[in-house]
Amino acid sequence: MDIHEYQAKEILRDFGVGIPQGALAYSPEQATYRAREMGGDRWVVKAQVHAGGRGKAGGVKLCGSDTEIQEVTEAMFGQKLVTHQTGPEGKGIYRVYVEAAVPIAREIYLGFVLDRASQRVMIVASREGGMEIEDISAQRPDSIVRATVEPAVGLQEFQCREIAFALGIKPALVQQMVRTLLGCYRAFRDLDATMVEVNPLVVTSDDRILALDAKMTFDTNALFRHPQISELRDKSQEDPRESRAADRGLSYVGLDGNIGCIVNGAGLAMATMDTIKLAGGEPANFLDIGGGATPERVAKAFRLVMSDKNVQAILVNIFAGINRCDWVAEGVVRALRDEPVDVPVVVRLAGTNVKEGQQILAQSGLPLIRATTLMEAAERTVMAWRADTHRNPKLKAV
Ligand code: GDP
Ligand code: MN
Repeated sequence: MDIHEYQAKEILRDFGVGIPQGALAYSPEQATYRAREMGGDRWVVKAQVHAGGRGKAGGVKLCGSDTEIQEVTEAMFGQKLVTHQTGPEGKGIYRVYVEAAVPIAREIYLGFVLDRASQRVMIVASREGGMEIEDISAQRPDSIVRATVEPAVGLQEFQCREIAFALGIKPALVQQMVRTLLGCYRAFRDLDATMVEVNPLVVTSDDRILALDAKMTFDTNALFRHPQISELRDKSQEDPRESRAADRGLSYVGLDGNIGCIVNGAGLAMATMDTIKLAGGEPANFLDIGGGATPERVAKAFRLVMSDKNVQAILVNIFAGINRCDWVAEGVVRALRDEPVDVPVVVRLAGTNVKEGQQILAQSGLPLIRATTLMEAAERTVMAWRADTHRNPKLKAV
């Protein structure tokens, strides 16, 4: 799960990391008011969206007066910011962060990641702040400093000093740098983050080390341990289809094709999508109903998939171990009785209570297409979809 820059900064501040003075605003009026309240004569207005690359995309603006803040924020609010990280649809701007501008002497890159190879938290730093880490590693790989943290003892001060020296931090500021590194590390560890990135971390001309930008990503599977982090979730920044599914305890992944897939388990989802492609189709999404899904849950899943306008055929593919085919069948029948659909529905069931499941489908009287193997199911789905698009010219093939 991602959070906003201002939220990451508040967290890091509580762990002892220096941040510039700033305030959040939900409207242009509030933004100017916040700036006035803060004082000073130069501010940076920053669009709060869950994506980097805002600076280049016009989401970070330096302002020198109230009227300028008003103008800049009027142009930002309600717009979609498209950066190289958002995809072409962009992300909506509903909050801006107003910061007192600081005099930058140097910019440093600082990242904390989970390094799978060493199975350790790894610190990645570079003198080339402000640039994206991908560009730094392509253009200035020699500038990158790395350190791994021994989990039994945690990040040590001597390691922080080594990093500070490698980055050329002047001696008088080394202790501030140590505090910054330890703060980021503790935030990462204590809050089950998977990534902390401060780009740039700056040294100001009046010798302060400040996080000018901050990005944190959290391990979704550990959120139950951090209710205060879960609360920071901002649905306006997520694919609405995916957040609606998450609210219902289902996991949904939106794609670009037109065959909706209801499956159980991520592995089966991958196999189902591969097979659909092999049969000449393109998946519109996949929805994982998980294990032990009740008929109600399956019916909900069905409605969610149907709410995707791109869906022109549905494939239900269940390999039931913990699940029960009869419950899945009942859910499908229930959903279709409640809200009949005008697209072909193919159901392939295997595993626990498959006979009972098939019986429910057969006795339902609904025009369901049944299949035994996955290949057969995918082929029938694509065939039925093609026939349907042929009959109904409104449905266009992609
Ligand atoms: P990103 O483009 O989404 O990564 O947004 P950043 O928060 O990193 O801002 C982009 C750039 O704006 C930074 O690399 C800085 O060069 C500049 N910037 C941000 N805040 C300030 C500030 O307070 N003062 C000055 N002079 N520049 C700033
Ligand atoms: Mn940045």
